[in-house]
Amino acid sequence: MSGQETPVTGEPLKKVLGRVAGKLDKKFGIQTTLDLLYFFPRRYHELGELTSFPQLTLGEEQSVIAQIADSSRRRTRGGKWMLSLQLSDGENLMDAVFWAKSQHLINWMSSQMQVGQTKLFSGRPSLYRGHLQLSHPSYQEVSDENLDAASNQAAKVQAQRPEPIYPAKAGLPTWTTQKAIAVVLDQLKFAPLPDPLPENIRKAQGYLEINTALEQIHRPRTRADYEAARKRFRYEEAFVLQVALAERRQELAADAPILKEVPGGFTERVASSLPFVLTDFQQLAIADIGRRLESSNPMNLLLQGDVGSGKTVVSLLAMLRAVDGGRQGIFMAPTEVLVQQHFSTLTKLLGEYAQPGGFSSRGGEGVPIYRLTSSLPAAEKHRTLDALKTGQPALIVGTHALLSQRVMLSSPGVVVIDEQHKFGVRQRDRLRQTESGTPHLLVMTATPIPRSVAMTSFGDLDLLTLKGMPPGRNKVETFRVDTANRTWRSRTWQRASEEIAAGHRVFVVCPAINPGSQSDGEAEGEEGGDVRESIANVSDTVSQLQSQPALNGIEIGVLHGQMSAEDKDRAMANFTSGKTPLLVATTVIEVGVDVPQATMMVILDADRFGLAQLHQLRGRIGRGRFGGLCLVWSGAQPDTLASNRLQAFTETTDGFRLAAIDLKLRESGNILGESQSGRASSLKILDLLADEAVISQARQDAKDLVRADPELEKHQILRAVISRRISEEEQEFLERG
Ligand code: ADP
Ligand code: MG
Repeated sequence: MSGQETPVTGEPLKKVLGRVAGKLDKKFGIQTTLDLLYFFPRRYHELGELTSFPQLTLGEEQSVIAQIADSSRRRTRGGKWMLSLQLSDGENLMDAVFWAKSQHLINWMSSQMQVGQTKLFSGRPSLYRGHLQLSHPSYQEVSDENLDAASNQAAKVQAQRPEPIYPAKAGLPTWTTQKAIAVVLDQLKFAPLPDPLPENIRKAQGYLEINTALEQIHRPRTRADYEAARKRFRYEEAFVLQVALAERRQELAADAPILKEVPGGFTERVASSLPFVLTDFQQLAIADIGRRLESSNPMNLLLQGDVGSGKTVVSLLAMLRAVDGGRQGIFMAPTEVLVQQHFSTLTKLLGEYAQPGGFSSRGGEGVPIYRLTSSLPAAEKHRTLDALKTGQPALIVGTHALLSQRVMLSSPGVVVIDEQHKFGVRQRDRLRQTESGTPHLLVMTATPIPRSVAMTSFGDLDLLTLKGMPPGRNKVETFRVDTANRTWRSRTWQRASEEIAAGHRVFVVCPAINPGSQSDGEAEGEEGGDVRESIANVSDTVSQLQSQPALNGIEIGVLHGQMSAEDKDRAMANFTSGKTPLLVATTVIEVGVDVPQATMMVILDADRFGLAQLHQLRGRIGRGRFGGLCLVWSGAQPDTLASNRLQAFTETTDGFRLAAIDLKLRESGNILGESQSGRASSLKILDLLADEAVISQARQDAKDLVRADPELEKHQILRAVISRRISEEEQEFLERG
């Protein structure tokens, strides 16, 4: 941060406020007047409304509006005096207790808090002998509570003002923050803030001017006041982020190869000899991508399509445009297993035009296709590296090792990043630095990202969604198996043997590799990576299954992240061929693995996985003509987050719906990283799920603005706000992707 003082960064709070400034900084990271003005109420209390006790979180400082239902005073055994109140929310009761050395003080407190009054308390609810209790809460009048006494209209309006409730911390109750804000707000009358929102946008969409909005969000006279203000700040937040992202896109040089459709080229020929008919949705996506490739503005596209929607062939046709244009199509997958698989899938799709390893089987014209993995024999690796160096028109499939500084991309035309939505901005930047101009970039993901999230977190990529599924897919049914239910457990293995007898394959997925070990990869389960004896693991599971009578005579394979690349390849090959039709694996099979004969998956300790991960896993089955059966084993108690997640999982196979549910089940603040919540610089009032329309509008407005004024010369305030608001923390997030 620059620390420079401009009108938009505000003044250091210490200059304006007393001791409170230090507290606000310490508890909430609020340092300047502007930070404070943008510290918005968490909610508003409307007259007559009480805080419902069951919604309180134990142990967390909170504001509670409650009516005093009962009050008593007594002397404790230790000789102190105690005031104990019974608070009511209209339905439930809670105790509030105060101690003092002198009876006098307790009497005074008691006179301050009389039965029948409604007050604002701030404290940490705890459980004491099974009762909800506030111990020594601070308290405050709810402003103008004696509405009944107010006879004239003006007083009534005054009394109906919604009361802002700010996030509270110990020693910093909501009313302290409120008073501090009032001081700063009053100063705005003499020194109004310049508005970062361009006037034309504000007027066109009817948003409040900034000073009015600040007044109304902190000191609303009516509900309509703060609602209008929140609307404006929601938009502002989306807009500032979108302008920052639009600027990023703008920075890309227009130096990409122009890849036109070549009549009679490989794109055309391969497309017409595919083993299946492209779906309408695939054709739409291909046409869309085709248009982008014809421009010298590098394509930066995120193609999202649910698991199994058929993205691979779409990317193949894009890469062939590069080959037809004398360039290379480069395909990157996250793991070696996937590189192997895609190499063979792409080779198959190329059909008679494939020249694997650069060799032509028929001597005719074709598309050389190379692979690059660490386990490759030296000779083949050299051929691939040579091909990369010469830049001859070809397809190259590899891991992200292709991005390392040692590998030379001399003529990339189209770069495809598969199943890697975590592919960061920095890695993308690396692609831009090729001698031959910036390649077109196609990032593909089956982890469904709600549009609003995609627009914020992946905002420098354009978005294209591949809808639908190739025809002939059968349904995958999902059932939950209670781990405690022995009958169901053995029925599972009976069912597995039936699948295998019918010539199909069965996955068994475990969260861990060894007993007592941590999860393989990044399981998103509740307890993160903590060590628990009882997590289902590959090695125990294999020996248990080997002694299952139902599985007698069935060969069991193993696949996990600690195996060597060769062993992994072999395990996949044996599974595909049917030599080991039952594969016990970790989440290494999570993305992209495509074995059409796989019809059944058993996920052990399924509550250890997040919804997105479960969805990915399930996407490995039911890919062929046969349907699928997914059994999720879990011992999760009903009504826990884990249990609700699994419930949702059994109810739909629609990845987009699951993503939305996931978002709802978590706090949406978590999407942008843990450190976002409650910090002065984070997403404040934008709700990624609910505000999609706002984000979408802001994105369009931002695009227009940056197109008209790329350097933001006519929007200095906005520029300053962007550099202030897109703090280093968020910068880093953007880079991590
Ligand atoms: P994903 O989008 O998950 O990467 P894939 O590209 O692996 O999906 O496609 C899933 C399966 O569907 C593959 O076996 C692929 O060959 C097949 N497929 C793709 N497109 C079609 C189509 N139009 N008709 C029939 N099958 C298709
Ligand atoms: Mg795929």
